[in-house]
Amino acid sequence: MKTSIIAVGTELLFGQTVNTNASYLSENLNLMGFDVMYHFVVGDNPQRLKDKLAEAFRDTDLVILTGGLGPTQDDLTKEIVAEYMGADFYRDEKVIEDLKAFFERRGRHMAENNLKQAYLPVGCTPLYNDSGTAPGFALEKDGKAVICFPGPPRELKWLFENGARQYLEKFMEKKMCYRVIRTIGIGESDLETALLPLIDGQTDPTIATYAKEGECTLRVASQRDTNEEASAAVDEMTARITDIVGGYIYSYDDEELDEVVVRILKEKHLTISAAESCTGGLFAASITDVPGASEVIRESYVTYSSEAKISVLGVPSETIDTFGVVSPETAEAMAEGLSRISGSDVCISVTGYAGPDADEGHSAGEAYIGYVYKDRKGHVSLDTSRNFRKWNRNYFMLRMLRTVYLLITDRM
Ligand code: ATP
Repeated sequence: MKTSIIAVGTELLFGQTVNTNASYLSENLNLMGFDVMYHFVVGDNPQRLKDKLAEAFRDTDLVILTGGLGPTQDDLTKEIVAEYMGADFYRDEKVIEDLKAFFERRGRHMAENNLKQAYLPVGCTPLYNDSGTAPGFALEKDGKAVICFPGPPRELKWLFENGARQYLEKFMEKKMCYRVIRTIGIGESDLETALLPLIDGQTDPTIATYAKEGECTLRVASQRDTNEEASAAVDEMTARITDIVGGYIYSYDDEELDEVVVRILKEKHLTISAAESCTGGLFAASITDVPGASEVIRESYVTYSSEAKISVLGVPSETIDTFGVVSPETAEAMAEGLSRISGSDVCISVTGYAGPDADEGHSAGEAYIGYVYKDRKGHVSLDTSRNFRKWNRNYFMLRMLRTVYLLITDRM
């Protein structure tokens, strides 16, 4: 079903609020199988909203609006939509009760203008809002449908999951099944090139690639008459993708890399420690972000200066003098020192230039990851050729996670 999203609110046009509602709706509608064709943003202006509504309905059959449903004077979405659909208003007693209860629970007086929210278009499907005050609603006419959500993202998500999703399912003729495959270590264009024979001319299952902060995600989706058929088609395509780029895949279930790493460490009863320089603790933060991390990580160090690398980790000063503080040798010596002091099963280190500057003869984006695992030690060389500090630091951290992932799954 062809779909448009209209976000209403002058603050969106001023750039004060990021239109996260549109991305949330787009992602979820696409995953359900709707064809989201347009995003519009309109200020709190009745005529422009009318015009965009007409445009959206001219080109698509389902129009989703967010924002402008509240009690204040500039909240006009409901009125414009009802007028466009030729619907009068009725007073919804359940909304009145919900509003009274909402204010009572908070011990607050309900301002009279809140009652405005209890008037809904005749013939609509109300989306009662347990997470706020403004209800949403869906309305249909002549084979077209409109759904209105309040603007606050938390309320939108709540209403989408507790009403709208179920309402939308009736429009889906086919059953949708999808899988999100996460990869690391391969760029989006290389991934797409490798998978071109599968992507080219493919209508179902579809394969979409998305690049995200140093990693790439693949979404394989199929729409068939039954769930079983859709699921089998996705499985079959997943197997073909694995044959080509399996070495880069770390999750078939849309998990984060740190979650996968912690899960495997736990399963294998392994402990981990890190000695970080240019990432300043990002690796340890990422591991400890995962619930249950205490089972796998006991200690970790940020040894930023050469002195700290020497005094805390026991890196020989000759190593730093001879090869440099950013070198494979120093990275390995950091991991070895860490192994001695922590006794952890997996010891991982990093030293590099996050940028924007680097020492003479080096460039920003150069880094080395050192590791000790079982009876093995070694390093991984990185060169992002970028001088964006934040991006580099995050990338180095992801590559540390990937190195650990490859080590503990015996792929390196
Ligand atoms: P309320 O009952 O809060 O008045 P409303 O439906 O009238 O809800 P708005 O007043 O338009 O919604 O927006 C409320 C808040 O929601 C805004 O302050 C803004 O922070 C947030 N918001 C609105 N639209 C969006 C959007 N498209 N993406 C992200 N946040 C949004």
